[in-house]
Amino acid sequence: MTFLTDIEIAKKNTMKPITEVAEKLGIQSDSLDMYGKYKAKLDIDELERLKDQPNGKLILVTAITPTTAGEGKTTMSVGLADALNKQGEKVVVALREPSLGPVFGMKGGAAGGGYAQVVPMEDINLHFTGDFHAIGAANNLLAALIDNHIFHGNLLDIDSRRITWKRVVDMNDRQLRHIVDGLNGRTNGVPREDGYDITVASEIMAILCLADGLEDLKTRIKRVVIGYSRTGKQVTAGELKAEGAMTALLKDAIRPNIVQTLEHTPAIIHGGPFANIAHGCNSVIATRTALKYADYVVTEAGFGADLGAEKFIDIKCRNANLKPDAVVLVATIRALKLHGGVKKQQLSEENNEAVEAGLPNMLKHISNMRDVFGLPLVVSINKFPTDTQAEIDIVLKACQEINVPAVLSDVWSKGGEGGLEMADVVKKLVNEENNFRFAYESEDTIEEKLHKLVTKVYGGDGVEYSAEAKKEMKVLTENGYGHLPLCVAKTQYSFSDNKNLLCSPEGFTLTIKNLKVSAGAGFIVALTGAIMTMPGLPKVPASENIDVDEAGEITGLF
Ligand code: ADP
Ligand code: MG
Repeated sequence: MTFLTDIEIAKKNTMKPITEVAEKLGIQSDSLDMYGKYKAKLDIDELERLKDQPNGKLILVTAITPTTAGEGKTTMSVGLADALNKQGEKVVVALREPSLGPVFGMKGGAAGGGYAQVVPMEDINLHFTGDFHAIGAANNLLAALIDNHIFHGNLLDIDSRRITWKRVVDMNDRQLRHIVDGLNGRTNGVPREDGYDITVASEIMAILCLADGLEDLKTRIKRVVIGYSRTGKQVTAGELKAEGAMTALLKDAIRPNIVQTLEHTPAIIHGGPFANIAHGCNSVIATRTALKYADYVVTEAGFGADLGAEKFIDIKCRNANLKPDAVVLVATIRALKLHGGVKKQQLSEENNEAVEAGLPNMLKHISNMRDVFGLPLVVSINKFPTDTQAEIDIVLKACQEINVPAVLSDVWSKGGEGGLEMADVVKKLVNEENNFRFAYESEDTIEEKLHKLVTKVYGGDGVEYSAEAKKEMKVLTENGYGHLPLCVAKTQYSFSDNKNLLCSPEGFTLTIKNLKVSAGAGFIVALTGAIMTMPGLPKVPASENIDVDEAGEITGLF
């Protein structure tokens, strides 16, 4: 069988003018700021205008522990929204914006796949409406202000060896991870060790996604800790008087973008924080606005449910006072086989025993969503062309045995048509009993929070701390950050902090190497090891296949 590539499918599609798509949600063209015919930004005061409207239902799409290829959360989110749209419902899919890093690296774009995509996919995957460039500029303005402050006499006594604020670029570029800058004599800055992160790993990205408006954005930026003085005191962006200019750079980036799916379902795509050192979901403003416009909002959280859904709930929902009405847990036969012990290269061969052996991974995620977070849930088997009926039946049966609805979805090859059954189940679920709760309380100490996450959500025995982490925990608590939610930075390939412990490991302890406050975003990052905040490109980067012709037509994006 040969299949059309994502970009070939997207190109065959005829888009509708975005004004027409927005009209489905009752958005007048007055409220739109057009970026060409097919992309628009929403007015900043949309939320205020709609504040008396009731909220629609919030549907969270998450997944079992993934393979490196991704299990289809974005694809499923788009397909489910298309299915609801097909049924005549007022629906919005709310997603993250893709980063250029994966687009040119290994994973490819993040605009869905097959017949469940958002378009114009080339634009969305490349510069889109420029939000990430604006975020990079705001971030780098602060970096420039820090070094400029030191150059001009360093009144704040900033310790140049303890600056934690890094410059960013939206590219996988390992060469920039650790650099020395400010070289070549006294007129060219003060030499120091420095480094770059990828833009999506920047705290500014996380802040933009958690802020509820421009005022809040400014207040959060002001709180950002950029490093320490030589006496060990925290230095903030506010002390550098950076927040006004940085917010000015972000005044359009904070407005959600509206586009459409291949089936003309409205899609709001906004923000894209990393899911390890940040919380990994689209912006609060986008989700809130979408809930005002539509009866159903389908949204995705990054990585597997132990990271993505947990942070969606414990960070984003807590911060923005949101409550999911239902969870869709995406499972694939190939990921189950991986957890069942099959090598990456053999995931397309039928192997019933391996599917069976991999089930505990799915069951643990199910129990987390249902029993820990108290949410109604449906399993969506994302059908791949290589799946066999026998393999699918094993998963359906396992769900039936524990009384969890499970549906085979084929939105990748059929679009909304392939998600109609899922849409029916979801519409029932959102009205079921919902005992939504967090995994821990804000008042819990940092230690208690981590212990609850590890024992309740990851299935481990407990937590170990490095000497550095213990010290930092004390400092953070003394500085009044103890009430903040936690953002655990760990591998997405295991419930544990060891990427080789597949399936549903038990008896492990999570080792916290260090803790760091993202004071502007409003969470404490708990680092389990060296977390990559500036990825590198693989030996054969995806960029080698990307091209553009004389007419401006792009090929090779996926
Ligand atoms: P996630 O959001 O979970 O990372 P994506 O939806 O981005 O996953 O999908 C990852 C990749 O897998 C994409 O390239 C997508 O086109 C592909 N994909 C998703 N679902 C299917 C499917 N059912 N069959 C074949 N390929 C798929
Ligand atoms: Mg995705």
